[in-house]
Amino acid sequence: LFQGTDKRIGEKEKLLRGLLNPDFDDHACVARYKSSLYRRPSPFEVSPYLVQRLREYENYHKKCGPHSEFYKIAIEQLKSGRNVESTDCKYTVFAQANGLGNRMVALVSTFLYSLLTNRILLVEMTEDSKNVFCEPFPKSSWELPSDFPIKRLAWNFQRESPESFVNLLENRSISLHANVSAESLPPFVFFDAWSNTWHIHSRIFCKDHQKIVKKFTWMITKSDCYYAPALFLYPEFENELRELFPAKESMFHHLGRYLFQPANPVWKMIERFYQTYLINADEKIGLQIRVVPYEPPSFEKVYGRIIECSEKEKLLPEVGTPNFNDSESNPTKRTAIVVFSLFSEYYEKIKSTYYENSTVTGELVAVFQPTHEVLQNSFAQFHNQKALAEMYLLSYCDKIAITAMSTFGYIAHGLAGLQPWILRTLFWQIPKPGPVCVRSMSVEPCLHSPPFLECKPNTTVDPAEVVPYLRSCEDFDTGIKLF
Ligand code: GDP
Repeated sequence: LFQGTDKRIGEKEKLLRGLLNPDFDDHACVARYKSSLYRRPSPFEVSPYLVQRLREYENYHKKCGPHSEFYKIAIEQLKSGRNVESTDCKYTVFAQANGLGNRMVALVSTFLYSLLTNRILLVEMTEDSKNVFCEPFPKSSWELPSDFPIKRLAWNFQRESPESFVNLLENRSISLHANVSAESLPPFVFFDAWSNTWHIHSRIFCKDHQKIVKKFTWMITKSDCYYAPALFLYPEFENELRELFPAKESMFHHLGRYLFQPANPVWKMIERFYQTYLINADEKIGLQIRVVPYEPPSFEKVYGRIIECSEKEKLLPEVGTPNFNDSESNPTKRTAIVVFSLFSEYYEKIKSTYYENSTVTGELVAVFQPTHEVLQNSFAQFHNQKALAEMYLLSYCDKIAITAMSTFGYIAHGLAGLQPWILRTLFWQIPKPGPVCVRSMSVEPCLHSPPFLECKPNTTVDPAEVVPYLRSCEDFDTGIKLF
């Protein structure tokens, strides 16, 4: 446990320096108070303004959340088939789909957008997503009540849906005149933030569009991508974002730690594994090996690249005859390597390597893998619970190596606040040119498809060129990332 020698530091870290509201029942979510004891203190300050905005948001959520009087009024409005001029409560309903990592980066983005535009975030909880996370907002719930009149949101809304903002404009169901009355608008608007098409819909963030979007009481967002960094590209959000996140690359780190506390059954798995296998390790090295099922590269190829990366970056302890006269020799050191993968063969091979060979430094190496699920099954609750437990365990490691483009890996290093090593070429049959792995310049996840910056006609620009704190991602050339 990393409790620090100073008890006061422990107390401060317990509530993540003010990010978490103390006003919760400890037993309902054990992780809320314990999870930070397992990792080093955050390298980033929490701005007082972020804390203030979160407390304001929580009060607003309590006032407008499920089963409140305001919620009932808003539901009646939705059922009536038209929008109304309402200043009390506005809502974003989040429809989730895809793997857990994708859902989490999209949830952080949607929460941030809701915070910036004064909307309540409600989440459609499919069976597979129940009891994975604790409730993040005190004395209320983020779960969309089952009486919500529109069902199966993730299935029912697509790029072509006539309710999407872009389609409403194209069909001339709405116009961009700022004096359009709220009553003349449809009962809700759909924001399609799905990974491969969302950039087309990103115009929704432009000033003229926002003037209209603000008038809708209900907004339905479907997303699987980390669109949050794109908000920095719009002046109406940028100023507030700078105040919320003085260190820009801390955005996911803080919001992820705030929103995602593992539910008790998930926390029990995390704690059991940590206490059994990791508690006595002097150093923990986490290796995430994500091999996609379609046309996967062979085991030999992937393993070869991992070893090449490890040798280049001195990631895993070097095997060979111990040299106890060397200054790096450390025979009392205990190193744990934790492998995270759907498959067991990488773990088996690495484990045998350290069983059959000694290390040059004389350190002792134990190798573990919590599960090997073989198939991704994001429609199963227990599968998702195990995925979250492993993202958390990976985030507790001292060194983190992830596979390029994997949101699973992004979540872990983002929560940890660590710059990962990125194994660049595991996804593909044919290796990408360039080094086999690189150290990331930032702890932020990558936004794989940047928005079209076309608020004014014919203004296509490269976001990484206009904003100095956005760069191309190391693992995906056309992606952007805050640093
Ligand atoms: P991405 O596809 O790598 O971006 O990550 P996602 O989390 O969105 O989707 C991958 C999903 O596959 C995870 O959520 C898990 O359900 C499953 N999965 C992939 N790798 C692992 C792993 O190492 N451990 C576990 N338990 N599940 C995994």
